[in-house]
Amino acid sequence: MKFTELGLVPEILRAIADQGYETPTPIQSQAIPVVLSGRDLMACAQTGTGKTAGFTLPILNRLSESRAATTGPRKIRVLILTPTRELAAQVGESVATYGAHLPFKSLVIFGGVSMNPQISALRKGVDILVATPGRLLDHAQQRNVDLSGVEVLVLDEADRMLDMGFIHDIKRVIALVPKKRQTLLFSATFSDEIRTLASNFLTDPGYVESERRNTASELVTQYVYKVDRERKRDLLVELIREKGWYQVLVFTRTKWGANGLAEKLVKSGIEADAIHGNKSQNARTRALANFKSGKLHVLVATDIAARGIDINELPHVVNFELPNVAEDYVHRIGRTGRAGSEGSAVSLVCVDEHKLLKDIERLIKKPIDVLEYPGYAPDPSIRAEPIQMRSAGPRGGGQRSNGGRSGGGGASRGSAPKAPGGASAGNGGRPGGGSHRSGSRHR
Ligand code: AMP
Repeated sequence: MKFTELGLVPEILRAIADQGYETPTPIQSQAIPVVLSGRDLMACAQTGTGKTAGFTLPILNRLSESRAATTGPRKIRVLILTPTRELAAQVGESVATYGAHLPFKSLVIFGGVSMNPQISALRKGVDILVATPGRLLDHAQQRNVDLSGVEVLVLDEADRMLDMGFIHDIKRVIALVPKKRQTLLFSATFSDEIRTLASNFLTDPGYVESERRNTASELVTQYVYKVDRERKRDLLVELIREKGWYQVLVFTRTKWGANGLAEKLVKSGIEADAIHGNKSQNARTRALANFKSGKLHVLVATDIAARGIDINELPHVVNFELPNVAEDYVHRIGRTGRAGSEGSAVSLVCVDEHKLLKDIERLIKKPIDVLEYPGYAPDPSIRAEPIQMRSAGPRGGGQRSNGGRSGGGGASRGSAPKAPGGASAGNGGRPGGGSHRSGSRHR
């Protein structure tokens, strides 16, 4: 299948060619025709499958087909909801990139930064709005945003939005958009809650699936080093040095764990930084940019902060601690071995985590090779201890409870030429341009 066979307008094909994409990914070749037909869609796709273009390209196409019919001031015609500010910013960049040769205006809004630049950008008129639910509702309450013209609603990473407790916010947003609309639901997993959401808000949806549920990519080499709890940090330093790893995404379970580990790595002479929900948006954006450019060798992240980060062909993912929820393991290692390149996913597992490892193996339906690193064999006299989480979130993950609502910023992107993939600074609210509201689930 080629992009030219999908019936996309020349402006979009040009934008695709600008990106150097040659063929549609499986999710794209399945989803694009369904979306173009105007049908609702339920898609099972993880980050890294090309899902964002899977919905953005046909949406832009539909807008461009009906644009002649619209007169008068711009109304929001497409609303894309995402769980986190990072994902919102990335989806906004994709909309801008794929729409570079079309006249539509898009805007990204999330919390944690001043509302004023977002208000003025909204006033100027927007065709496509990408938003985290909390900040969108703040604007709706203040009547800054009119959703009565929405033709297409996208719920991106719907499973994560539910995990983060956004179900009521989603329902409130849906109540603000017209009943007659196209709804697209993307989710990495299809739990019963997701199915209920779909049956309540989608009409006769087409169903597409990018890969088998909960399978880890064949291209990722996965293995476990058994190691004592207190020696994980030393082992990680050793592994990074000995193996010459240069771009390593390391997952910890908690924000304080991420900070402590990044500090330890820096003390050991390794360029490292941490991203998590307590860091300012500026600090997070900077760390991510440095990591992508190769300046930072190691980025330590919690699950929620890493969700939606778009880093291609990441060579190494390390689970410094196993996640409490087995599905998160699949998300984490999905960061590597993407787009056809090979990657390694290494987990440092101590005696406390044996049950978590079993859960993961059950989910991915295969055992993970267990190795011992010379000099780091576990001490058999050490007993398992309960896993410490500083605060319990909805599924026991401390960092889950403040991930989304604290999302923050705004970036608009219209027809004016701007750097590819960059967010506009025109409204002063680009991602990273603002102060952070800590623990801001509750407004
Ligand atoms: P996503 O799953 O939407 O986060 O996309 C993952 C990455 O794949 C992004 O960096 C996209 O730029 C890239 N991508 C999307 N579609 C294609 C394609 N058809 N060919 C090559 N790369 C793509």
